[in-house]
Amino acid sequence: MSKIITNGTSVSPGIKIGKAYVYKNSRLIIPKYTIKPEEIDSELLRFKKAVEKTKEEIMDIQKQISTGLSKDLSDIFSSHILVLEDPMIVEKTKNQIYEKKRNAEWIINDISADLIKGLSSIEDEYLREKIADISDIHRRLISNLQKIEIQSLADIQNEVILFCTDLTPSETAMMNKNFILAFVTDRGGRTSHTSIMARAMEIPAIVGTVDGSSQVKDGDLVIVDAIHGQIIIDPTDTEIDEYIKYQEDFLQLELELAKLTNLPSQTLDFEDIFIYGNIEIPEETKVIKEHGGQGIGLYRSEYLFMNKSLPDEEFQFNEYRKVIEGFKPLPVTIRTIDVGGDKVSTTVKTTPERNPFLGCRAIRFSLQNRDIFRTQLRAILRASHYGNTKLMFPMITTAEELITAKSLTRDAMAELKKEGKPFDENIQIGAMIEVPSAVIVADILAKHVDFFSVGTNDLVQYILAVDRISESISYLYNPLNISVLRFLKRIVDVSREFNIDLSICGEMAGEPQFTMLLIGLGFRHFSMGPAFMYQIKKIIRSITVKECREFVDHLLTLEFTNEIEETVRSMCKNKFKEILF
Ligand code: PEP
Ligand code: MG
Repeated sequence: MSKIITNGTSVSPGIKIGKAYVYKNSRLIIPKYTIKPEEIDSELLRFKKAVEKTKEEIMDIQKQISTGLSKDLSDIFSSHILVLEDPMIVEKTKNQIYEKKRNAEWIINDISADLIKGLSSIEDEYLREKIADISDIHRRLISNLQKIEIQSLADIQNEVILFCTDLTPSETAMMNKNFILAFVTDRGGRTSHTSIMARAMEIPAIVGTVDGSSQVKDGDLVIVDAIHGQIIIDPTDTEIDEYIKYQEDFLQLELELAKLTNLPSQTLDFEDIFIYGNIEIPEETKVIKEHGGQGIGLYRSEYLFMNKSLPDEEFQFNEYRKVIEGFKPLPVTIRTIDVGGDKVSTTVKTTPERNPFLGCRAIRFSLQNRDIFRTQLRAILRASHYGNTKLMFPMITTAEELITAKSLTRDAMAELKKEGKPFDENIQIGAMIEVPSAVIVADILAKHVDFFSVGTNDLVQYILAVDRISESISYLYNPLNISVLRFLKRIVDVSREFNIDLSICGEMAGEPQFTMLLIGLGFRHFSMGPAFMYQIKKIIRSITVKECREFVDHLLTLEFTNEIEETVRSMCKNKFKEILF
């Protein structure tokens, strides 16, 4: 019987079958001894040399990856150099060698352990990533002090599927993708540096399995299905056969679908359907472009706020500008910060809430923290000068919020004008429609915006009163609930009546099974992650708007969710069997 692990997150897609290799980042031995006063200078020198050697090693990695991969990835290692130069670590180590008269390894180990302990108590993905950076530096420094060669993943010379507790970005950078077919880590999330590198290096990866690495042994046969986030250990012959076929089909399909990149996204009856990308960080734009994305429909700017310190105007301006210039003349829709709910930021203080999803989130937070909002608006506006930019406010519940947010935007514009800083004076302003009240008053909101963008992730949870991250009631969280379809229809009707642009950027937009339904309802602008962009384009190119409308007319006559689900499922099975996995 095979064993299946399903609790990880696929962060880089693909399917691989191979032998497991459990990588135990070999344990460092930390020698601990005291030194005599006359040995202090030589100890400081030994430490200085180890820092220099570590810096050299990091710069080598940086050089290696900046030629092969994107420049942004090599920036990850610039942050390692910053850690190395951080007075918290270097100066403190020197001072303590002097004061405590202990050897450098002992001091470094204690300082890193304190820093890591402090960061571990904070629930934040970015800070957890900082722990990986500090551990990486710690390991290199200790090894260099002892003149020990670090075991490198670059030395692996046969095909394996790598399992480990965690990987540092430098370990990931050293992987040879001819031998490391895929990797699985116990820790990590979508936005961790290691995940970003996996996507950029196109190594299939699943992270956050909690204890995946202790469930396999070296040499176990495993299947990594980094499309559905599934790992099969000791698969049966039938599973192997199934997956070999699945893998071949997937590769074949990827090759086939990649040919679609530059073909028009148009239905058989010549209606253009636009496909944009959703991104969290600028590094993701590369893959959106490669998949033929026609711009960015949702830039979740809050990820800039998951940082060590509050991003200032200049930093934000540069990040936004990078994306805007990269897509010029195609549009980039920047959504103002949406912290709160499940997105906790350490740089902006949100008050703990009894019901976080119903609390001070998104635009509510911005309107209560005007300085942060003003800085962000100024940065977005300044960046708008460099390409086609749209500005969008999240979680609008009332027209008053929208009017206030727009008035603050006008204030920021007036300031910039006075300062002689250029911006797009005709920047399009839109509201996310993700709260039921916004759908009901869409006719009022429509008078104040250029566009609506529907956030189905939240809209579904608020329509059905079901927490989008609760597992126990997840059966209720269903975009095919008839009430959701009726809400979506109303948004389309209102935006048509008021002649404003409409797009959809919740996960629903990026799931091929919903494409016909959404086109039939009247959506023409879809924003999504890259995973199914090709499949969705393929579907678009094989259908007519007329048949989508007929399909939706029929769905809207049904009363029960299971009937709707069944109808959608069998339609997909009949029409798109060969492209849907
Ligand atoms: C949504 O709610 O559908 C959406 C796109 O926003 P987020 O997932 O960031 O809340
Ligand atoms: Mg939302």
